[in-house]
Amino acid sequence: MKQYAHWDKEKNAYRIYDPNSPNVTLGYADSASEAKQRAADEDSELTVEKRLFVDMDGTLAVFRPVDTMETLYEEGYFANLEPQPDVIDAVAELNRREGFEVYILSAYLSDSKYALAEKNAWLNKYLPFIDDAHRLFVPCGTDKTTVVPGGIGREDYLLDDYTANLLAWDPPGHGIKLLNGINHTKGTWKKDMIRHEQDSDVLAGKIASVTFGRHVYDDKSRTERDEISR
Ligand SMILES: [Mg+2]
Repeated sequence: MKQYAHWDKEKNAYRIYDPNSPNVTLGYADSASEAKQRAADEDSELTVEKRLFVDMDGTLAVFRPVDTMETLYEEGYFANLEPQPDVIDAVAELNRREGFEVYILSAYLSDSKYALAEKNAWLNKYLPFIDDAHRLFVPCGTDKTTVVPGGIGREDYLLDDYTANLLAWDPPGHGIKLLNGINHTKGTWKKDMIRHEQDSDVLAGKIASVTFGRHVYDDKSRTERDEISR
């Protein structure tokens, strides 16, 4: 029998369930490794579900600098942002993988007439497989963790180009910084980071390996397991 587990914030434990009847709880475990061991003892296979949240501006879309703030309020600014095709394809690949749930998590100018509608139109064009329930938007300046369904947990990963968002996320979640060629000028972020200019399968593989406890620093990686139990 196949089993799934996800982090249950209220119980402060991993909830194990049957993927064919997700509402049926099979048990709880304190760590992912304990849940896996227990499943193995029962000759079952257990998948720990991960949620990947992906930023838009500077991550899925190429950051376009502006001279004045007014430009950001002009019609077409967000609709016409250039895509980062390899990042988009990597996200599409992870979205197809078993055990991954992908969300878009983007901040928008809530006082703009166009921003929200144009961001949705942009997603319809480049990531049409992401449904409305998996598109999360917060007004600019709002902590991104506040809109995570069910609350942020330790199996929640954020791919973002902006350190402040990553610091607010991690802990209890895990931040992965996308190095887009113009950010990371101060080097404040010390955790996992991935350069954008790589093939989509390499990017997807690196993001997936972070979720399995392998650290990735730019194009160098080390195989050391995370000391924090997941
Ligand atoms: Mg961004």
